[in-house]
Amino acid sequence: GCVLEVSGLEASIDDKSILKGLNLRINRGEVHAIMGQNGCGKSTLSKVLVGHPDYKVDGGSVTYKGGNLLELEPEERSHAGLFLSFQYPVEVPGVNNTDFLRLACNARRAALGETELDPLEFYGHVTPILQELDIDPKFLSRNVNEGFSGGERKRNEVLQLAVMDSDLAIMDEVDSGLDIDALKNVADALNKLRRKKKDMSVILITHYQRLLNYIKPDYVHIMKDGRCIKTGGAELALELESEGYASFDGFDGV
Ligand code: ADP
Ligand code: MG
Ligand code: MG
Repeated sequence: GCVLEVSGLEASIDDKSILKGLNLRINRGEVHAIMGQNGCGKSTLSKVLVGHPDYKVDGGSVTYKGGNLLELEPEERSHAGLFLSFQYPVEVPGVNNTDFLRLACNARRAALGETELDPLEFYGHVTPILQELDIDPKFLSRNVNEGFSGGERKRNEVLQLAVMDSDLAIMDEVDSGLDIDALKNVADALNKLRRKKKDMSVILITHYQRLLNYIKPDYVHIMKDGRCIKTGGAELALELESEGYASFDGFDGV
């Protein structure tokens, strides 16, 4: 079934119109890549979806799991299984990563009507997840992102996604600033999570086709000036890589 349906979405920031009638439909378990030049509105889309207060929705609709996403508070969206990874994950000095992950996990569990986990129970919960995703347990004892490399921050986000058991993950430029080994590690963790949670859907926002060698998208959308102007399969990203954005000038979307 459909997890997310974006229809004619228009949004602005500081009275500047950014999204201009964007359509996107995502089914459970699918990976959608969204590509487009800097400034076309990719991050704006992700922020509007998670309910960032700086962005104003001017028109259109967003249906998430059959309900109106736009009337939910950001926190409620997260509790409902929507997850946004940040382009530049921040350090949270002095906050232990295990405590951070446990809070995130428990907020989601409460929303699902599940019991909250105490520190010992959480340790028992997260340990097999670390093994499954092949993430070093020493991540847990560090402070949130403090001294983490770019790749470690991104892997920690995949870990957060896993403990929150989110249903739709939006990964905004998860590849930015990563060397090839770090990129492979992050992609591996995400792929392992996808195999474990087959109905999880992913929106991968990226400039580069390279990421898509490691996480194969079911659909690729090209975004331009606030709309998806073309949709295709994984081959569309290769076409884009070889021919550049200029070859996708016309509006060919839905
Ligand atoms: P992308 O992620 O595709 O590079 P963005 O969504 O970040 O694009 O930006 C789309 C447009 O919105 C750009 O022209 C950018 O300058 C503008 N924009 C984004 N965030 C803000 C903001 N906080 N204030 C003013 N303009 C913004
Ligand atoms: Mg940008
Ligand atoms: Mg961006």
